[in-house]
Amino acid sequence: MTVSVLGILGAGIVDPTTPVIQADDAGVTRGDGCFEGLRIRTDGEGVSAVDKLERHLARMGRSTAALGIPFDETAWRGLVQQACAVWTTPGEAALKLVQTRGPLDGRATGFLTVSPLPADYPRQRRDGLRVVSLARGLTTHAFADAPWLLGGVKTLSYAVNMAAQREAERRGADETIFVAADGTVLEAPTGSVVWAVGTSLHTTPTGDTGILAGTTQQLLFERAAAADWTTHETLATLEDLHAADVVWVISSVRGPVDIVELDGKQRARMPGVDSEIRILCNF
Ligand code: PLP
Repeated sequence: MTVSVLGILGAGIVDPTTPVIQADDAGVTRGDGCFEGLRIRTDGEGVSAVDKLERHLARMGRSTAALGIPFDETAWRGLVQQACAVWTTPGEAALKLVQTRGPLDGRATGFLTVSPLPADYPRQRRDGLRVVSLARGLTTHAFADAPWLLGGVKTLSYAVNMAAQREAERRGADETIFVAADGTVLEAPTGSVVWAVGTSLHTTPTGDTGILAGTTQQLLFERAAAADWTTHETLATLEDLHAADVVWVISSVRGPVDIVELDGKQRARMPGVDSEIRILCNF
């Protein structure tokens, strides 16, 4: 059991082995629901705080609205507060908020978990990521005028994302970057792609591409713009990534991790730039 804390909306913090999901909950039978992944940091006194809570709640509000699932932001805020109160292990941990559509004749199910940081993250942060690109099969603008495709919604339907990560591992890599059918760089299965060229930072635009608006990428771009970087939403190819100074995969729990190998080509690391970006992301 990797779950250290379990909280259920409407019930509060419960024993982590407590059953949560009814067998006909569409969240598990159809992946019909949404989630958020956040980082909790706990100081030496055992006081915990969640990074970027407002941005995550705002995105969950957008996800639930797109799915037509009720979202009780006040109740979620209270449950997160309760989880922080009981989680006192110093260091970093992963907080997950899950909101399902619920069973056929019942109410939506909301629960959260606190789990240890994935075991491989410290190594990946230290050594960087070996990445392979994989085709996503959709064109760059596939999500334009097609809200039913749920572009930008953090749904529970991550089976394809997880399969892509397993494929990357099968090929001896740590991570993958999805590329559109017409060659545009999209995102990683659980992270945004950001690259630096000189003093410019770039990422793929959201919207038509259907990629998720990353809360860490957004924080980074806001803070970088105030620190002499220019920031750009750019439709790029893999060639553009090969030509960039540094390329990162960026997300809330793992943070920004620079890519040291892309499709078999080694990339020189730039520790000065990398550490500046980590600091701007609060890592
Ligand atoms: N893109 C996808 C598909 C993701 O799943 C995630 C994180 O879960 C991100 C990007 C990065 O988002 P954030 O920085 O908010 O964690």
